[in-house]
Amino acid sequence: MGKKEVIGECKLCLGFGELRDSHLVPAALYRLARARSRPKKPDPVLLTVAQRQQTSFQATQYLLCGRCETLFDQNGEDWVMKHCYRGRGRFRLRAILGASAPSAAEGDFKIYDASDNAAVRIDRLVYFCTSVFWRASVRTWYSSANGIKASAWGIRTKNKYDATCWARNRFR
Ligand SMILES: [Zn+2]
Repeated sequence: MGKKEVIGECKLCLGFGELRDSHLVPAALYRLARARSRPKKPDPVLLTVAQRQQTSFQATQYLLCGRCETLFDQNGEDWVMKHCYRGRGRFRLRAILGASAPSAAEGDFKIYDASDNAAVRIDRLVYFCTSVFWRASVRTWYSSANGIKASAWGIRTKNKYDATCWARNRFR
């Protein structure tokens, strides 16, 4: 089966053209959330106010053009996915922080000042987080195939145009 071609307005640049099937959170996060140790039931558990269910559902919709999708990848997602917890004890961000001196410590509790550490890309972390909130704010998303709304994850804006103007200035 070939990929579906969807033409429409990109929510970020407002250009008209082919849209990508964009994820609310990276597809790689869905993969990381799967339990390799449970091959018969590897899907993550989805918790909502209404219910708990194990599901392979991924929240996606045709939202961004290829250029804007690439902006999100290069300015935030790529770094965050490389440095987040990857399973099997691999956690680059934690290792970077752990190799530096904490600014405060008490027992196992430690505080690090990431602004002093050039290896921690705070700009990428902030970009990534705000891009997820922005995506959640410009459309209604569903967190399961049976239509549970996930839009409450996002920031509330008085109007979607304001959100897009804000994002266009930040996500460049
Ligand atoms: Zn675009």
